Amino acid sequence: MKKILVTGSLGQIGSELTMRLRELYGEENVLATDIRHVDGNPVVENGLFDTLDVLDGDRMQKLVNDHHIDTIIHLAALLSATAEKKPLLAWNLNMGGLVNALEVARNSDCQFFTPSSIGAFGPSTPKDNTPQDTIQRPNTMYGVTKVSAELLCDYYFAKFGVDTRGVRFPGLISYKTLPGGGTTDYAVDIYYEALKNKKYTSYIAKGTYMDMMYMPDAIDSIIKLMEADSPRLKHRNAFNITAMSFEPEEIAASIRKFIPEFTMNYQVDPVRQQIADSWPNSIDAAAAKEEWDFNPRYDLDRMTKSMLENLAKKLGIPFGEPVLV
Ligand code: NAD
Repeated sequence: MKKILVTGSLGQIGSELTMRLRELYGEENVLATDIRHVDGNPVVENGLFDTLDVLDGDRMQKLVNDHHIDTIIHLAALLSATAEKKPLLAWNLNMGGLVNALEVARNSDCQFFTPSSIGAFGPSTPKDNTPQDTIQRPNTMYGVTKVSAELLCDYYFAKFGVDTRGVRFPGLISYKTLPGGGTTDYAVDIYYEALKNKKYTSYIAKGTYMDMMYMPDAIDSIIKLMEADSPRLKHRNAFNITAMSFEPEEIAASIRKFIPEFTMNYQVDPVRQQIADSWPNSIDAAAAKEEWDFNPRYDLDRMTKSMLENLAKKLGIPFGEPVLV
């Protein structure tokens, strides 16, 4: 990766990935883009930024030509819960944007990354220790677009030799940018509410296990996979990765180790619960460990400590040095 284009760079992943890429590869070598322009956002202000609607393939090609881009990191997409509300928009954006980005990568010989998701699995997938290669019959529009994307990226590698790579991200938890409408967003909201009100109403039911990962591990995994030796990669576009699997009571218990008076109740949202029920409880990341040394650093308690410390600072809430009780 020498000259990198990031699409959807103002989102939950892009806003942190862009800053890390600029640190590692140089500010002048990372072109961040998004359909939006947000004044004052560090992604917009501290380095190269341009607006780009990923449905405009000609403009994407022009930016790649003008900046001599050799790597495309394609993040713009509609997430699971929003996609269920607007399925046609999700299909058009997730597939239309991807095919444009792949075509530009093919024309300009770019290395390519786009994330898949645990949403690429469905109700007939084995739920526990979900294998790398298994049944994928998702029943959500998000899942349909993610399976199609995995296949399309494999196709562009096999047919045209485009160096496509990707991971199936679990729910990602971060304090810098709010998540963009996914099913696992509760695991971010809960930390805000724990600090602000010491209580939380969960829209995901007790006992619902899903895979999760702290954002620093997600960012490291993208960079590690992109830097991995190509011949080692047998599963290019859909590596299972995960750092932890928990249900709402377990994240609440982790928060109580730092904020003992924290309480939680439930008001289940049927749409997001149905999506969560169709996803695995926990996935097997053995292929990622074997083929490119995937190695997450944060477990649940370590993540909770970091989230509470950093969010308290961001929100200006006195918290002190969190102590495990
Ligand atoms: P996000 O919703 O936070 O950000 C998406 C960004 O794309 C936004 O900044 C939005 O303005 C931009 N965008 C929307 N339409 C656009 C268009 N037409 N052209 C250009 N930009 C457009 O999403 P995220 O959480 O950063 O996710 C990025 C990718 O990672 C997606 O493919 C998503 O499916 C995948 N993923 C995310 C998670 C997660 O927990 N965040 C988990 C699994 C997979």
